[in-house]
Amino acid sequence: MLEVWKQLVCDANKALKELQLVKWTSGNVSYRDYENNRVIIKPSGVHFDALKVEDMVVVDLEGNVIEGKLKPSVDTHSHLYVYRHRKDIHSIVHTHSPFATSFAIRGLDIPSYTTTAANLFKDRVPCSGFAAIGEEEIGKQIIDHIGDSSAVLLRNHGVFTVGKDIEHAMKAAVILEETAEYAHYATLHEPDLEPLSIEVIKQCNHFYSTTYGQEENESITKGESK
Ligand SMILES: [Zn+2]
Repeated sequence: MLEVWKQLVCDANKALKELQLVKWTSGNVSYRDYENNRVIIKPSGVHFDALKVEDMVVVDLEGNVIEGKLKPSVDTHSHLYVYRHRKDIHSIVHTHSPFATSFAIRGLDIPSYTTTAANLFKDRVPCSGFAAIGEEEIGKQIIDHIGDSSAVLLRNHGVFTVGKDIEHAMKAAVILEETAEYAHYATLHEPDLEPLSIEVIKQCNHFYSTTYGQEENESITKGESK
């Protein structure tokens, strides 16, 4: 099964570039498998186009490398911190997508102005404090600020999105950038724009969680092993 997850994580990392959410080697996707608590993550400093499935690094929740010849991403310990503190999260996506990162640079939350944003991020995408790269500090900021949103802006750095599987975390990364772009242009023209009310956001969340999409079934493409 680990080989299947490695392929899915490799594909998701490559998709980040195709979706224009990353540049050069920055950004990463990880997945924590349901059965063994193994985490599969992109290796550090490898170009997305050059990534191969055998390059994926498998670590345990303490960061010991179980499989892989390359060094794992420098963000690995922060991913692991999040996985250890949130049992519901099984995939994390990190990007420096431009519109969202411009909010992170300014230290601003992104309030929900659209129903699509409300569906994924509830009332806002919160912005965390600053954290140094390398150890668990980024992970602590994510846990301290993300709440029940699917995304958090990391101050002066970029964005992290989360999900119960790779599909959901990737979707949050795409919708986050769209949300940030729309919020940027809307508030540029109308600085005092009111975000959606809490009542409307609750209605959106209820509709989205009960009605939207197809019935979920067993699917390895969603990264779930029920
Ligand atoms: Zn980064």
